[in-house]
Amino acid sequence: MAAAGVASRRKSEELILEGKVKVNGQVIRELGFKVSEKDRVEVEGKVINKKINHVYYLLNKPVGYVTTVSDPQGRKTVMELVPKGKRVFPVGRLDIMTDGLLLLTDDGQLAYQLTHPKYLVEKEYHVKVKGKVGLDQIEKLEKGIMLEDGLTAPAKAVILKETNGETVISLTIHEGRNRQVRRMMEAIGKKVLKLTRVRYGDLTLAGVPVGKYRVLTDKEVEKLK
Ligand code: URA
Repeated sequence: MAAAGVASRRKSEELILEGKVKVNGQVIRELGFKVSEKDRVEVEGKVINKKINHVYYLLNKPVGYVTTVSDPQGRKTVMELVPKGKRVFPVGRLDIMTDGLLLLTDDGQLAYQLTHPKYLVEKEYHVKVKGKVGLDQIEKLEKGIMLEDGLTAPAKAVILKETNGETVISLTIHEGRNRQVRRMMEAIGKKVLKLTRVRYGDLTLAGVPVGKYRVLTDKEVEKLK
């Protein structure tokens, strides 16, 4: 309540003890009672936390765009590809040469959750490399690879196709370290020719052409939370 600017901390405690605060229609008397954005909080009959309407975009990022809000070097940023007016920012990062699925939102709390390793959101990449990838190399990717910032968590790696001296693998990780996929591939002696993020949790690029975005549905947002 103090954070919502209703009253000072002390006055808020008094209001709670006097039974003047309701959460979802029930009087609460416990100091320090925790509420989330979804709860309806009333003080002396007035709702104090009107629902904030955040926006959530799923962008199919093209190669050549940086995933920052602005770029001191004047490169193109993903902000040019989503509507202006809402203070959205990218959830995590994709390298300038990576394309594929990028979420943008103005919901700081969800962005924080999603980028925190303990939330374990699966991210699937299609990785094109030169030459063949052996089963021993697939096994290394899956078991974990010692990078300079530590061992990678177990991953899922599957060979999708081998053509014209190139191999495409699907690599699913839930960490989000800087240049992680490229560094994992380098560690098994493979240079990445093309890197695309094709899935983020349950979300895929289906129906979203390169350079375009779509708005997530309420159901999709709930599932991310
Ligand atoms: N891993 C990388 O190496 N680059 C990306 O853009 C995303 C994951």
